[in-house]
Amino acid sequence: MNSEFLPYGRQNINDKDIKSVIEVLKSDFLTQGKVHKEFENQISKKVKSGFCVSFNSATSALHIACMALNLKKGDYLWTTPITFVASANCARYCNAEVDFVDIEEKTGLMAPELLEQKLINASKEGKLPKIVIPVHLAGASCNMPKIYELSKIYGFHIVEDASHAIGGSCNNYAVGSCKYSDITVFSLHPVKIITSAEGGLATTNSSRLCKRMRTLASHGITKDQEDFVGKNFENWIYEQQELGFNYRLSDVHAALGLSQLERLDYFVDKRNNIADFYKNEFSKLPIKTLEPYDYVRSTYHLFIVQLEDDYTKHHEYIFNYLRGNGIGVQLHYLPVHLQPYYIDLGFSQGNYPLSEKYSKKSFSLPIFPSLKEEDIIRVIALMKDIFCKIIS
Ligand SMILES: *Cc1c(COP(=O)(O)O)cnc(C)c1O
Repeated sequence: MNSEFLPYGRQNINDKDIKSVIEVLKSDFLTQGKVHKEFENQISKKVKSGFCVSFNSATSALHIACMALNLKKGDYLWTTPITFVASANCARYCNAEVDFVDIEEKTGLMAPELLEQKLINASKEGKLPKIVIPVHLAGASCNMPKIYELSKIYGFHIVEDASHAIGGSCNNYAVGSCKYSDITVFSLHPVKIITSAEGGLATTNSSRLCKRMRTLASHGITKDQEDFVGKNFENWIYEQQELGFNYRLSDVHAALGLSQLERLDYFVDKRNNIADFYKNEFSKLPIKTLEPYDYVRSTYHLFIVQLEDDYTKHHEYIFNYLRGNGIGVQLHYLPVHLQPYYIDLGFSQGNYPLSEKYSKKSFSLPIFPSLKEEDIIRVIALMKDIFCKIIS
């Protein structure tokens, strides 16, 4: 018996990745050399975006995306409760208010109908959001055509939190192409589709937004003489024009990301194959898997299952049973509005009933490219065991 603990996700590092990082370590520039530029260019090429800016995390990228879109005190940013806290925290860094749009049961994604209803109400109260952040949960794109259409009517910006979704698509447009958004953000954390250890990316088709993000991620400094506002600057001097941060991705990290990018399609195919295998095996169990829209290709960053209504009371038991048997199940996510920080801001249980219901019946099973067939079979056998136990 294989009793190794299986995490829900795990990075995939090969010899070429290691070699790429070592090469940069032996070179003259550990940061801000050519490698992060090359990485940005290759990402733009891959997702067909006009521009790409690299960051030291997706959290940094989200913060700067909000700043570049002038999110300020008194403004509203809307996102979904079923996401990692960073999707909401970026508004708080800008002293803006956060609000949430509840989800669809079938996809777990921000519900466009609820977004529309909330926009109608907000419009009457004069509290329309400046930015909406749809989150492509588990790697499946939100209904971007509809959200984009609403943005044109109600005048908000869209930042896609595609931390899970690099390599995915919506209507055959690569996620990151910004066909339906101002900016798209990817995470390169080790559990995500490709990694740079820590790292993030923001893509856009606006040269103005690209420039602004680059400046803000580097102290608010510009070295572009054409943009200087002062008169006494010589060739070798830079100008700090506003308060920025040091959020840049180092070349050491970028080298890992660049090497990983070569295997992006392979990773996404592999994840889709595992997902198909799981779905087929689970078809007779009292669970539903999150279903991407038929015009979406998911990356299956996560494989999330939902218990059918009669079984939700066993959620904790099932979770603990799998954990006890070495399967690193996880809840993605506890609704953000129920985190103590957000409760202190005035949110409470009952605010977003669909998200709250979702979190009481969902869990993620292991899925990652190097997951072995015997381990997939072990997960499936345990899942079948549990329901036998519960029914008997
Ligand atoms: C991982 C993640 C982030 C943050 O990514 P970091 O690169 O770790 O900062 C943001 N949003 C979502 C949905 C994520 O899963």
